[in-house]
Amino acid sequence: MNRVIGIIGICSLLTACGGQGLPGVHVGSIGGIDVDGAIGAASELGKAATLTDEEVKESSRQMRLFEEQSQETVAPASSKYAKRLARLTDQYRNYDGLDINFKAYVSDSVNANATADGSVRVYTALMELLNDEELLFVIGHEIGHIKNGHAAKEMRTALALSGARKGAAASGTIAGNLVSSELGGLLESVLNAQYSQSQETESDDYGLQFMRKTGGNLKAAESALRKLAQLSGGEHSMLSSHPEPDQRADRMGQLAKQE
Ligand SMILES: [Zn+2]
Repeated sequence: MNRVIGIIGICSLLTACGGQGLPGVHVGSIGGIDVDGAIGAASELGKAATLTDEEVKESSRQMRLFEEQSQETVAPASSKYAKRLARLTDQYRNYDGLDINFKAYVSDSVNANATADGSVRVYTALMELLNDEELLFVIGHEIGHIKNGHAAKEMRTALALSGARKGAAASGTIAGNLVSSELGGLLESVLNAQYSQSQETESDDYGLQFMRKTGGNLKAAESALRKLAQLSGGEHSMLSSHPEPDQRADRMGQLAKQE
């Protein structure tokens, strides 16, 4: 299946095309919940709200492990992708007070995403498309989703809607381990969700700041978004809640000129 996702690529924790869900796993997604699911989700919302940041991070970490064991292939350390990504990001593993880990996923999906546990994932098709500076802007953008709490908020919502970890949330203890079906449901929720326009704008700003602070090429922000705009054709349905990539590129171009 064609998994080219365009700019949402950049945005997404959250972007798999439809049909990526795991067989047999039914969880109310953010976009469409069945009635039973909605009732259950409503009762879970309060519980999810009580989860600590650490619990949200731990759930995210477990979801990533599940993803990498069952769905996405991590580029081997010896691959050109892993080497390039390490070269670009090794110095940023503790950027801005965060504990970040970077990996390349072998995929023809033009995508990158981040989760609350500090995982930033860059897909190989995106790495083929962008030069080093452009890639660093996207990485900065993804770090922005972590630093600004967007990824954690998204995970809380997914936890609430999935109803996973009822007992843990109720008892206030960190869940030891989520089972596969729960992780599959969470992943599906997260992959189907979207960040808001304001969150995307905020992360674009963070990405540009990242380039400024690290001495990067500010023009790379605009050019990265232009490339993604061309790719998406500007009419990806999954971009519906996002600012148009070209508008984002225009904005980055303007902001890059300001000192
Ligand atoms: Zn984004």
